[in-house]
Amino acid sequence: MQIETDVAIVGAGPAGLFAAFECGMLRLECVLIDALSEAGGQCVALYPEKPIYDIPAHPAIEAGDLVASLERQLAPFAVPRLLGRRVESLSGLRGAFRLRTDAGDEVAAKAVIIAAGAGAFGPNRPPLEGIESFESTGAVQYFVRRRESFRGRRVVIAGGGDSAVDWALSLRDVAAKVWLVHRRDRFRAAPESLDRLDRAHARGEIEKVVPYQLHGLTGENGVLSGVTVATLDGEIRTLDADRLLPFFGLATDLGPIANWGLQTGLHTLIPVTPSTLETTLPGVFAIGDVATYPGKLKLILQGFSEAAMAAHAIHPIVRPEQALHFEYSTTKGVPVA
Ligand code: FAD
Repeated sequence: MQIETDVAIVGAGPAGLFAAFECGMLRLECVLIDALSEAGGQCVALYPEKPIYDIPAHPAIEAGDLVASLERQLAPFAVPRLLGRRVESLSGLRGAFRLRTDAGDEVAAKAVIIAAGAGAFGPNRPPLEGIESFESTGAVQYFVRRRESFRGRRVVIAGGGDSAVDWALSLRDVAAKVWLVHRRDRFRAAPESLDRLDRAHARGEIEKVVPYQLHGLTGENGVLSGVTVATLDGEIRTLDADRLLPFFGLATDLGPIANWGLQTGLHTLIPVTPSTLETTLPGVFAIGDVATYPGKLKLILQGFSEAAMAAHAIHPIVRPEQALHFEYSTTKGVPVA
């Protein structure tokens, strides 16, 4: 697909979605591009049913509901999207950029906002033979999208951090059986969660399988019938589970963005000028988790504020002939074309 627009937004997580809204409020056209098949970034892909407690004016809101609200807010602008497409390359200069996706789309834009979070993220997969065939049927999953889908299941959860412990505690109410496998006998989770885990273990609601590591999977045609685990001494146990949830963190890789000359610092971050969110490439801006500057907090609310600042900084690039008068939304309403 060929698209010509004012602003190309790479990443449709909460920061990218709100940036699209802020562009709309300034009458800038934009396109949203995301490697995932649906918008929402980490909120939708990783924790849609978890409540978030630090979104201003929402004492608690589930991550999926937050994204649904962002979508409702953005709806009047009918922003085009390229979903399931990873942006591979960025070329050109301020006022005339060209982006290409892995599906062969070409986007011409006057400015670019990179809202790529932790990059086109993916889970760290345990190196188990044949695991792919169980992923495609949902027998092995890396994120809990719908807690209900585990009702009556026999679930092995692997990992020693907050996600593993929190999901073990949550799924014990719906699953027929929950094993929690960790290679050490100590877990790294919030003290309150650890107390709850100990109590659940004592009551037989969760079986801690420690110190064990994942060793293999049994089953056929994507139907899981068992998970084998082993100690470092080679002692093997088979757990007759039909679901495996490995929580070994996320592989955060900026992927192709690391080659765009944005002076990516340590890890996967793009340094920006805090007052404009502009990167070292004039006309290219970065917001949300991917952007860094002194005092940066990786919080959704910070991404929202950065989205507003970046859109205002971009306006003179796209409309050099028009002075931008700062206005409240209460004054101008939602300027739908
Ligand atoms: P993301 O949400 O990471 O979205 C980035 C998007 O960019 C992704 O969809 C990705 O596919 C896409 N992308 C990347 N590279 C490309 C490319 N080359 N081409 C196309 N698309 C690309 N924050 C809070 O404020 N409060 C909380 O309570 C909170 N709890 C959390 C709990 C969990 C379990 C997790 C994992 C995170 C939590 N966070 C919380 C953090 C919050 O989710 C992030 O700060 C937020 O998602 C960052 O938004 P973003 O839009 O910058 O990036």
